[in-house]
Amino acid sequence: NKIRLGIIYGGKSSEHEVSLRTAMSIMKAVDADKYEIMPVYVQLDGSWVKGATLSGQLPEAVDSLRLSDGGSQQPEDSAEGQLVAAVRPASVFSIGQEIDVIFPVVHGPNGEDGTIQGLLELANIPYVGAGVMASAVGMDKWMMKNVFAQAGLPQVNYVGVLRSEWEQKQEETIRQIEEKLGYPCFVKPANMGSSVGVSKAKDRDQLIEAMNLAAKFDRRLVVEEAVKARELEIGVLGNEELLTSAVGEVIAAKEFYDYEAKYKGAGTELQIPAEVPAHVAERMAEMAKTAFRALDGSGLSRVDFFWDEANDRLYINEVNTMPGFTPFSMYPLLFQESGISYSELIDRLVTLGLERHADKQ
Ligand code: ADP
Ligand code: MG
Ligand code: MG
Repeated sequence: NKIRLGIIYGGKSSEHEVSLRTAMSIMKAVDADKYEIMPVYVQLDGSWVKGATLSGQLPEAVDSLRLSDGGSQQPEDSAEGQLVAAVRPASVFSIGQEIDVIFPVVHGPNGEDGTIQGLLELANIPYVGAGVMASAVGMDKWMMKNVFAQAGLPQVNYVGVLRSEWEQKQEETIRQIEEKLGYPCFVKPANMGSSVGVSKAKDRDQLIEAMNLAAKFDRRLVVEEAVKARELEIGVLGNEELLTSAVGEVIAAKEFYDYEAKYKGAGTELQIPAEVPAHVAERMAEMAKTAFRALDGSGLSRVDFFWDEANDRLYINEVNTMPGFTPFSMYPLLFQESGISYSELIDRLVTLGLERHADKQ
């Protein structure tokens, strides 16, 4: 009996395209004898379409990953022009009858933030990855920092600011930031990913500009002390019993790891495994598990760190509950380094999703 695997992808999010790449990669990688795939595409405008064919829905950037270009998984009705059915999000309640488990590969707001997870909980459908709470906390950098602080995890100094506060008490806010953090500092919308709306401010003028920019994306903002550090990442896999991966390093040629660098590959290099002393990798594994548990994660997470090499200080930056998941993304590459292939990783995640669902009953 094949596992009927639903894949919800796309999403009303700035990370739409990344999600397409991930979905295409998963569909290509899974064993067609083992899985029957049902894609559900969330278009940029937020509307949903369901159907086995994805033709015509893909931007050029993902053309090379098209299902019809010789992917191992060839749904019977993947012929050009096959109609896809428009569906409403609430239709997952009926899709649930046709699907055993869903892999929601939607990054960023409206997907990685617990909203889709909540829908799937209500529909009582097993799904891969973090539940509602971990997804929501992992998407909100401010709340995530509160949780890390509670768990005793070292992190850079930060200040949380509401957009309304910024608009009404700009001078007071600037004073507070300068006192507590100084320059340079990083300004971020709390609820984003892929570096969208993130900027580095080296003086007061730049801070004002950065705050105004971040405020366009969210009503909750986070300002952080900038650290001079190497960016190290580690994967966590599991529900209660956790496996950690090898450590990787992101080496950005640019000032910081911004959207362009992340997805256009502009001068960014992933070093796997990272060249770091064993004690750093060990600490990362411990801290990553602590963070995963503090958020009540499940399935997978990529936990990102700053390592100030000169002072040998490790700070946790963030947990990504639905990290980039193409075969060229950090998370799958880290586990590949640890001996778990891309398709085995998908198998394990599906199993973990089913186990988590059974555990809740
Ligand atoms: P996102 O969730 O969008 O990836 P991050 O918080 O990871 O947001 O920030 C994006 C990038 O900005 C990081 O990968 C890093 O290059 C840089 N950065 C963010 N915060 C800091 C900081 N406090 N000090 C130094 N660099 C930072
Ligand atoms: Mg993130
Ligand atoms: Mg990041």
